[in-house]
Amino acid sequence: MIAKEFERYSRQIAIPSFGEAGQRKLEAAHVVVAGLGGLGSAASLYLVAAGVGHLTIIDAQRVELSNLNRQVLHWLPDVNRLKVESAMEKLHAMNPSVSIEAKPEKVTQKNIHELLRNADVVIDGTDNYQTRYLLNEACVRIHKPFVHGAVEGLTGQLTTIIPGDSPCLKCIIPKPPPRKPTLPVLGATPGVIGCLQAMETIKLLIGMDEPLIGRMLFFDGQRTSFEEIEIRRDPNCPVCGSAPSL
Ligand SMILES: [Zn+2]
Repeated sequence: MIAKEFERYSRQIAIPSFGEAGQRKLEAAHVVVAGLGGLGSAASLYLVAAGVGHLTIIDAQRVELSNLNRQVLHWLPDVNRLKVESAMEKLHAMNPSVSIEAKPEKVTQKNIHELLRNADVVIDGTDNYQTRYLLNEACVRIHKPFVHGAVEGLTGQLTTIIPGDSPCLKCIIPKPPPRKPTLPVLGATPGVIGCLQAMETIKLLIGMDEPLIGRMLFFDGQRTSFEEIEIRRDPNCPVCGSAPSL
């Protein structure tokens, strides 16, 4: 590792379970961030700051004024720009050694395998269950770890799905919660959950410490408290029920 790189990452390399070996693993890794809203903004900022080698960012939408309270990658001059363009600019300025691929596409049944093909970890940065279920199903089928996060108001949830090993999203949430026309969100909430998604991803990529597998974490910002529950696979799950164990 060249001196400048070492200096840049020195504070995380100093973590015993991370080390120089961890940094090298991170540099060789490819993360796909599906959605560049509040969750995807926070997650991709911290992954790029940490020096993940390759990042694919996916979002078909353009920046709207009402996004700016929480989608911290997008700033006032970015309104009406494609989110992937706005994100790419900030992330590249932050750490030009990360190779970033921008996909201004909506995730569909048709393109999903191509989008996720090279991923080592997939991050759920979406705001709807239709896309979440699509991502979950594809991740189960092609055995990609999937870090789920969701927020509303001052509350959020998080779990790390390892296909074949942990419950999938459909085991935990068989039916989507009713969709509200406008999802209320305090910007700091996806900040909290998105940062945790980045942390989970880094832990998975390096093989360090204890990721949130088989557990669902709930964040209640109204009380400023975290709670977790144990989650189990549903043997009859239509998505992962017949998946072979790893
Ligand atoms: Zn399942």
